Amino acid sequence: MILVLEPNTSPESTDYKILIGQLDRLPGIKHRVHREVGTEVTLTEIYLIGNTGALTVEQMQVLPCVEKVVRVSEAYRVLGRHKQGDDRPSSFEYNGVRFGQDSLQVFAGLCAVDSPESVEGMMKALKSHGQVCTRMGAYKPRTSPYAFQGFGAKCLPYVFELAGKYGIRVIAMEITHESHVDEIREALHETGNPTGVMLQIGTRNTQNFELLKLVGRQQELPVLIKRGFGITLDESLNAAEYLATEGNRKVVFCLRGMKTNMGDPHRNFVDFSHVPVVKRLTRMPVCIDPSHSVGTRAAAPDGLLDIFHVVAQGVIAGANMVLVDFHPTPAQALVDGPQALLLSELPYFLDDVALARETYVKRTELARRMKAAA
Ligand code: PEP
Ligand code: MN
Repeated sequence: MILVLEPNTSPESTDYKILIGQLDRLPGIKHRVHREVGTEVTLTEIYLIGNTGALTVEQMQVLPCVEKVVRVSEAYRVLGRHKQGDDRPSSFEYNGVRFGQDSLQVFAGLCAVDSPESVEGMMKALKSHGQVCTRMGAYKPRTSPYAFQGFGAKCLPYVFELAGKYGIRVIAMEITHESHVDEIREALHETGNPTGVMLQIGTRNTQNFELLKLVGRQQELPVLIKRGFGITLDESLNAAEYLATEGNRKVVFCLRGMKTNMGDPHRNFVDFSHVPVVKRLTRMPVCIDPSHSVGTRAAAPDGLLDIFHVVAQGVIAGANMVLVDFHPTPAQALVDGPQALLLSELPYFLDDVALARETYVKRTELARRMKAAA
């Protein structure tokens, strides 16, 4: 059970102290307080854990400071959508960019940072097409220990400075170890915070629970968690829940395809039909990664790349973020060059995304008409 308190409830207030005193006296029930400090309002939620079946919503509703009571019926207690009275937010803002189940952001960028020239070329193209988000891999988890592992902390200062120069507000960047989080925060600080970072948990680390807990304990940087490529959707959503139970609610869930030869000739079996499913089960914005799903630049006879086709499928189904590999000179890319889109393709890619989004918005209007007529 979750008690949503009135906005700006002070932990010092008498009413709050009375509330906590009453909760302390509930037999067999523990509580955990989550406070979200925003620029204008501070929101407080209290999670009641234990024998909550014995409590009634009415009984909790009359306690001091309580605005709303949500009975948790599903597995994903913090990030899930619960049946009774759950209108908790399904969006957040970070560094001036909105991430929600109703918005759409494109993160086109390098799979791996390989040189300042590639980074600058990429960011310049993004700026000229009005983009404020990108992806930049500094720490690369590779199948072979002999493969290029990413430039790590060494490249962060120039990546962040160039991001500032070209007005990039959020960079999605994978981390595989807790030291990477410290290195990123340090480099952001040392360069004067010219941009923001969304920490990416890759598919190989979806169930690295200690890493999830660590990343969840910091609330400064939002997190993009990828679906595990060989586990169920439920297992991946529980992984996201690890981040949230530790305190970080700024979580985006990314579909990136499943590892099975049933998806051949694609690199992974594209799973974007799960976009509406994740939105129904949880309040997380949903990202799609067409590059790591499809893995090639193959094109259909209609002239559209398979990557364009799956992006359209995901966006038309309501995806909220697209994470996609681009490279100024794919032949020289150190990681995943064969799946990278070209800078000359960027405006067409963005146009195609906009077409699909427009159709999605029209489809939601259709749904409203259908409901009104029922
Ligand atoms: C990536 O986005 O660079 C990446 C390695 O993706 P995934 O974790 O989905 O394989
Ligand atoms: Mn890659």
